[in-house]
Amino acid sequence: MSYELRNEINELLDSQPGLKNADNKMDYIIQGVYKYSLDYDGYIAQGERKIKLIVHKNFPNNFPKFYIYDYPEHIEHIYQDGNVCLATIGEMIYFLNENPSLIAFINKFVNAFIYTLDWFEKYNTYPFGDRKHGYEGLLDYYLNDLKLTKKQYYCMAIMIDEGKYRGHMPCICDSGKKLRDCHGKYMLPIIKNTLYRNEFIKEAFMILTEDGKNVGKNPAK
Ligand SMILES: [Zn+2]
Repeated sequence: MSYELRNEINELLDSQPGLKNADNKMDYIIQGVYKYSLDYDGYIAQGERKIKLIVHKNFPNNFPKFYIYDYPEHIEHIYQDGNVCLATIGEMIYFLNENPSLIAFINKFVNAFIYTLDWFEKYNTYPFGDRKHGYEGLLDYYLNDLKLTKKQYYCMAIMIDEGKYRGHMPCICDSGKKLRDCHGKYMLPIIKNTLYRNEFIKEAFMILTEDGKNVGKNPAK
């Protein structure tokens, strides 16, 4: 059975009576009041938030855009127009490849963000550690979660950009394993999907450019 986004949109609207959908040719535009009750490790975040979620009809091949209104001034990862930086492109691709579901995406990324927001308002800190804003936060995912060095991440980006991935080649991380038995599982979902690939390359280019500007500025790093 093929994935039916419409069913998940309906499921979302049924469970969230404060949200309304106004869709156009390209997107579902879901906005209104989102009710939540989230429990991670015993701290319960509960309340209502004014949100907007734009879901391209091509989902999961496009990433939903999430906006939040009324947030504390100093919180990171929210742009001035309310657009939230939910995660890195690589992380969203890996997740959606394993879980091609809008509800799963909301549970994983949107709810985690709302929980963070709630926590930040109370304690003025971040519950899941301090993910940096901008390119450094994006890069952190590849360095910490994927356990790559910066150079290895660039290798990964170039390999994806130039279409040079071959499963039998040695992995970029120097584990001695073949790519297909190691970091290939993160790279293949990006390579196999043109839209994902373009987004990943755009992000890599941004990280590379921004990181290049900082090289030499901070010799301690
Ligand atoms: Zn590897």
